[in-house]
Amino acid sequence: MNGSEQVDRYHRQALLPEIGPAGQARLRSSSVLMIGCGALGCSIAQQLVRSGIGKLRLVDRDLVDITNLHRQVLFTDQDAREQSPKALAAAEALRQANPDVQIEPIVADVHSQNIADIALRDYMPDVILDGTDNVQIRYLINDLSCRDGIPWVYGACIGMEGRVMSIVPGKTACLRCIFPDPPAPGTLQTCDTAGVLGAAPAVVGALQAAQAIRLILDGPEAVGTMLALNVWTMSFRSISTHQSQDPQCLCCRKGQYEFLNRPPRLDAAALCGRNAVQVRPVTEGDLDLVSLAGRLEALGEVTAHPQFARFRPTGSETTLSIFPDGRVIVNGTADVAAARSLVARYIGG
Ligand SMILES: [Zn+2]
Repeated sequence: MNGSEQVDRYHRQALLPEIGPAGQARLRSSSVLMIGCGALGCSIAQQLVRSGIGKLRLVDRDLVDITNLHRQVLFTDQDAREQSPKALAAAEALRQANPDVQIEPIVADVHSQNIADIALRDYMPDVILDGTDNVQIRYLINDLSCRDGIPWVYGACIGMEGRVMSIVPGKTACLRCIFPDPPAPGTLQTCDTAGVLGAAPAVVGALQAAQAIRLILDGPEAVGTMLALNVWTMSFRSISTHQSQDPQCLCCRKGQYEFLNRPPRLDAAALCGRNAVQVRPVTEGDLDLVSLAGRLEALGEVTAHPQFARFRPTGSETTLSIFPDGRVIVNGTADVAAARSLVARYIGG
């Protein structure tokens, strides 16, 4: 990519006094970590990659499903039919949109014991984007952000509504200053139970991307606001979070990173809103997918991909998507015990 092609690609953006050629160059040298590539993640990544950031590491654990397509704009009908891992399908679409950006997809389930390794491998990101809409992971991101001084951008969405907030440790309220504890499991509605209009995460993700760019260019001076919006009624309300800093906050003031220090629940769980169960490995260590695929060939249909293998036992309606870290997504059942027993039978452990 020569210089003039880059100028052309980003010309309309670099015209902005807030960006300019120096800002564009700064974006080019930036690195972003995005955890979660659902509706918010698709919208965030699309904006950031087209804006010309340097590197995007994107992490997601799930497979593309037909019910995702009305709002998860990086995925195609074919991705859903092939049940492609979201991180890989998104990376493919993003590379088509802008080959200048170094895209690093990671198919993994983020938890307390691996988030730091995933986030800090090789370099420290300039900013972390929350694309998960998952409460537990948000508190983990907040712990990591406060521990290591990395700004992050919170986003949440349901129905017609959304919220966006930038968090800069030491400068703004952190997540726990405002919401000291996560809500009890099962008390919150999700997109899978309450529904969501595709426009809502599109708007929230675009705002998260804008705030990430602002954090990269302007640093912590830029932030300290939470925005709550409704795309149906067009009501937008912003609240300053500078006054919400809690001098007693366990996380950003006292340095207690409870969520990072809590052992992960490494067990099986039905994936929300899908006829699928995720079974996490009982033991640590990587699987040898090639030899596993060889063993399974006699027992059903096996397809091997570079980052996962898929197996459908003969005569069965379920498929097992097996990842190198030993994690398995069993599609075709929401019965956790049945999924666990299939994994034990074919993969062991
Ligand atoms: Zn705090």
